[in-house]
Amino acid sequence: MQLNIQDTFNKKLPADPNKNNGRRQVFESCFSYVTPKTPAQPSVLHVSEETAALVGLTKVDTQSPDFRDIFTGAKVIDGTNPFAMCYGGHQFGNWAGQLGDGRAINLTEVVEKNQRWALQLKGAGPTPYSRSADGLAVLRSSVREHLCSEAMFHLGVPTTRSLSLSLSGDQVLRDVLYNGNSAYEKGAIVCRVAPSFIRFGNFQIFASRRDKANLQKLTDYTIQNFFPEIESGTKESYIAFFNSVVDKTLKMVIHWQRVGFVHGVMNTDNMSILGLTIDFGPYGWLEGYDKGWTPNTTDRQHKRYRYGNQLSIALWNLYQLANALYILVEDAKPFEDALERYKSDYAKAYPQMMRDKLGLAQKVDKDFELIAELEEILELTETDMTVFFRLLSNITTEDTASSALEKLQKAFYEPEELIRGILANWQAWLSNYIVRLQKEDQSDFARKAFMDSVNPKFVLRNYMAQLAIDAAENGNYDLIDELYQLLKLPYAEQKEHEKWFAKRPEWARHKVGCSMLSCSS
Ligand code: AMP
Ligand code: MG
Repeated sequence: MQLNIQDTFNKKLPADPNKNNGRRQVFESCFSYVTPKTPAQPSVLHVSEETAALVGLTKVDTQSPDFRDIFTGAKVIDGTNPFAMCYGGHQFGNWAGQLGDGRAINLTEVVEKNQRWALQLKGAGPTPYSRSADGLAVLRSSVREHLCSEAMFHLGVPTTRSLSLSLSGDQVLRDVLYNGNSAYEKGAIVCRVAPSFIRFGNFQIFASRRDKANLQKLTDYTIQNFFPEIESGTKESYIAFFNSVVDKTLKMVIHWQRVGFVHGVMNTDNMSILGLTIDFGPYGWLEGYDKGWTPNTTDRQHKRYRYGNQLSIALWNLYQLANALYILVEDAKPFEDALERYKSDYAKAYPQMMRDKLGLAQKVDKDFELIAELEEILELTETDMTVFFRLLSNITTEDTASSALEKLQKAFYEPEELIRGILANWQAWLSNYIVRLQKEDQSDFARKAFMDSVNPKFVLRNYMAQLAIDAAENGNYDLIDELYQLLKLPYAEQKEHEKWFAKRPEWARHKVGCSMLSCSS
């Protein structure tokens, strides 16, 4: 197994001089050296062949004992110095101070086909940033992270990737619902892959400590390595950098809205500086279209991170990043301008994304109304977001409101609720939609092809991940691979997999892991 190792983060940035792995506050350092915990009996359960190829590994490599040992923490690659990053963050709107990689250990960086990739284990043991927790991860959350990272990539959403899912052979104690019922679960380790795992919180921790020198070092490093179009070292470069982060973040969240993904914990320590979806914890996929939905039971009361709030929260998080970078620029105006621009760009990007979902190639002012009305009636009776938008492309300019509604039947959880008021709303909206389609230049056929490339047929529904987890807990890993293969082509018809193109089954409505997820992982 030959990796083209080229470490930069731990070579160019200040290291914590204290090598002791005890939990503590770490100052004036970007990271602390740590050695992964030796797993009791490591075994690899699943490998993403695509991500393996990205980092320069063949199928034969991934089947070797070396692969198993390195990507479960049993062995450190010669010449590398694994480390945990120091960062802070705002959790649920409050400054939480130092957080850091409490259970993530960066192994090394590789360069393959001119692209840099950082390889990071999640769940490989404690670090100085583990606070009161154990640094470990369990099988259920690791299956969810592994499958969803890869699924997001194939949906076209910027994301961190997952190379492998392994068992450590250790038992891990968890209280799934935080209700005093702790139980042992199988320990697992995922190897995540991304150009970098730097988060907003890496900048915030230095700013909160008024450590301008290290804030500048980290910012210059980030620009030099990941924003090569910007010349680093000047105030202008920090503003250009912030503007670029604003753009990438907006783009990412618009994609989330498009596919119905709810991150669940948009704390600033879970915001990638590269605009990648990161930290797949209690995330979820909209089943019934509901702007108020969040999968995270910890957030049940305020629903801060609900589907309909993600674009606003991203802006709030960008404000916090601006506050941190301000120290380098000492002028608020350029940051205010960038944040204002987020709002105006968002006001254009969101309706454009919805136009795409509706297959409206031409721009008509009244589309804003058509979109707003749809968003309202989608919530009148529980309507499956993925099924609805996928079926919408079957409507033609020849349809009547009634024949169109017939084509959408499969999206409604309670079709018998489609009476009186709701039926009239749908008929009115569909009539307007069909009239609007008649103004389009493109054929029904061309529009369907376009819509089917925007509206996925298959997403990792919460219950699908749970079925794979239940099987895996019993030692059967076939469904993990079946879902992984299915979700490589989320926009394709894949007729042989029609059973996964369906509303959430009723048994999953209130089941833990399907509709309710906690941060316990
Ligand atoms: P999250 O919001 O889940 O991304 O986690 C917030 C912070 O808690 C991060 O600093 C994590 O590294 C840390 N953390 C979460 N789970 C664990 C764990 N099992 N052991 C140690 N640290 C953890
Ligand atoms: Mg996190």
